[in-house]
Amino acid sequence: MVTGKRILAQRLRVPVVALLLSAAAIAPALAREGVEVGERSGFADLVPAQELEQTAKAQYLQILNTAAEQRALGPPDNAQVRRLRAIAQKIIPFTFEWNERASQWKWEVNLVGSNQINAFCMPGGKIVFYTGIIKTLALTDDEVAMVMGHEIAHALREHARERVGKSTITSGAARLGGALLSGWLGIPSSVMDIAAQQGANLLTLKFGREDESEADLVGMELAARAGFDPRAGVSLWQKMSAANKGAPPQWLSTHPSGNTRIAEIEANLPKVMPLYERARQANAAQAPANKAP
Ligand SMILES: [Zn+2]
Repeated sequence: MVTGKRILAQRLRVPVVALLLSAAAIAPALAREGVEVGERSGFADLVPAQELEQTAKAQYLQILNTAAEQRALGPPDNAQVRRLRAIAQKIIPFTFEWNERASQWKWEVNLVGSNQINAFCMPGGKIVFYTGIIKTLALTDDEVAMVMGHEIAHALREHARERVGKSTITSGAARLGGALLSGWLGIPSSVMDIAAQQGANLLTLKFGREDESEADLVGMELAARAGFDPRAGVSLWQKMSAANKGAPPQWLSTHPSGNTRIAEIEANLPKVMPLYERARQANAAQAPANKAP
């Protein structure tokens, strides 16, 4: 009888394997939920992620120290600091899918008192918001999440690393040629110096149109999954454009606004609205439990 069962099992194995194969074949058709973005750039691989994260960490500390000296660093009990950190805490768990390093990052969120309409997330998850962007634009939580998601997306998709990688090639390191392209392992220290020099400009990096579009899409998906209304992307950019008629916001110098941007966000809403609805329902279901003693 045992033998009979084994034979049966062996016979069954064939169709099971065939089934698995056919499942694999149709897998590409079952695209993941959410936005679609292209492959990450190979240029990023020219600079070790760790190297860039170290540079970012040092620069971040410098920014915080300068702000602290000017008594412009938001203390942990500041209402806006707490608000920003609460929003980040909801978004961060959804970042790991985009970049596995993100689960190891020492995420930090700080608020600097300044009229600048600006915010950023440096490689390694170092976030700063300026009071100017929150106050001048009177950002709602959803809009803050859209800005934060956008900036986090730049870090996750390693746009800074890609930029530095590209300039590593164009700024004299081209002489290293094939050796460099063979991968970043064992790159001579001179390349690392260039990376560090380029890193000095991490804050003023201007990303290309493609990177901006990618950050918009990935950012709105992150925010939606975290339970923030992705439609806030539209109102955010409308506010940003309106502010541009007065003193041009700092953020706009690196983030060209415009109707194409809003149109793209609107076109992608159907892809992320279901994620938002689901997150909102899950949050609502959890809320009563949280109130229990
Ligand atoms: Zn951007």
